[in-house]
Amino acid sequence: MSEREIDTLGPRSEGDAAARLVVDLAALAANWRAIGSFAAAEVAGVVKANGYGLGATEVARTLHSAGCRTFFAGFSREAVEIRRIHGDVEIFVLMPRIGDEAHVLHEHRLIPCLFDLDGIDRWIASASANGAPARAALHVDTGIHRLGLVGEELDVFLCDEARRSRLDVALLMSHLACADEPSSPANRRQLDRFRAIREDFPQVRASFANSAGTFLGPDYHFDLVRPGISLYGHDPHYLGTAPRVGPVAKLEARLAQIATVGPGESVGYGAMATCDVARPIGVVLAGYADGVPRGLYRPERRFDVLVAGHRVPLFGRVSMDMITIDLSEVPRDAVRTGMWVEIFGPSVAVETVSEQCETIPNDILTGIGRRVERIYV
Ligand SMILES: *Cc1c(COP(=O)(O)O)cnc(C)c1O
Repeated sequence: MSEREIDTLGPRSEGDAAARLVVDLAALAANWRAIGSFAAAEVAGVVKANGYGLGATEVARTLHSAGCRTFFAGFSREAVEIRRIHGDVEIFVLMPRIGDEAHVLHEHRLIPCLFDLDGIDRWIASASANGAPARAALHVDTGIHRLGLVGEELDVFLCDEARRSRLDVALLMSHLACADEPSSPANRRQLDRFRAIREDFPQVRASFANSAGTFLGPDYHFDLVRPGISLYGHDPHYLGTAPRVGPVAKLEARLAQIATVGPGESVGYGAMATCDVARPIGVVLAGYADGVPRGLYRPERRFDVLVAGHRVPLFGRVSMDMITIDLSEVPRDAVRTGMWVEIFGPSVAVETVSEQCETIPNDILTGIGRRVERIYV
């Protein structure tokens, strides 16, 4: 199946889809500004994974209007999409594959975040072949041990004057492992290592903090901060020092059926939820194929969605295309089929979804399925 054909499986026209992700672009811009009012540094926008599921190009457009001029994309493909709409920004690629993509990076003036000597050498070679400068970010490891030039390689690089002089280092960057645990000693340890490495790059701009790192305070800001999830509305931790960020995305799906299920009867796969008394059960058209986690229904722990202003619990397992809800607590004339049901958003915090499933909001947002229509307001 070609990509085009797959796309036709999505909504045919606006408003046609059974489930939609409503993205509040003003809230997104406000979050970027809130981070900027706190950070003693330039604020980039991290738009990897399709802008954390919200839509990378729409996110980039909005952040650009707010004043953002530096973006971090995951892969070159995403970076090219952003370059198509903005000629005047710096776009870093976090996970470049220099061997295959050097020409794309040069053609679109994308800046790879290089993380090993092999990549550095290939980038230098491709630059001289293209008559282009070998401009790159140097991603160094300071303790997460997940992408980044490690100590020995960094020493080799620093001692090799010929190599060093051929690479135009636009940014020195590193990434924190435990920033969402403010009291973790790993944060200071990584900070000390980063400062030490930075001494070898006195003229180079430095970037260290993701969202959680930014909220750790000014020591972590350097020249450029790289928030992702906080732009999209989630505080990884709230220390009371930074402005709060607000929700940006709302996942909604249509109520398809309301049917009374009698006492002793059960609802959904595995007959996990059984009615003690007759209950009106609503069927809502979003399931795990749309990114509603299958673990969201837990018999021992109620999870509420919002319908017609009322909080009502999931009742029965999440299936591929549907969830089922118990409408007993809602006046009968308040609900009808076709209504939108909020699964998360301004009224049902995405954090309650992620906590229920023992994960983080990033996981929930990036998991929103492609057939869910993205609507921008
Ligand atoms: C994903 C990522 C970020 C953004 O992280 P958040 O926790 O979402 O703010 C920043 N830097 C790097 C290297 C990343 O991979």
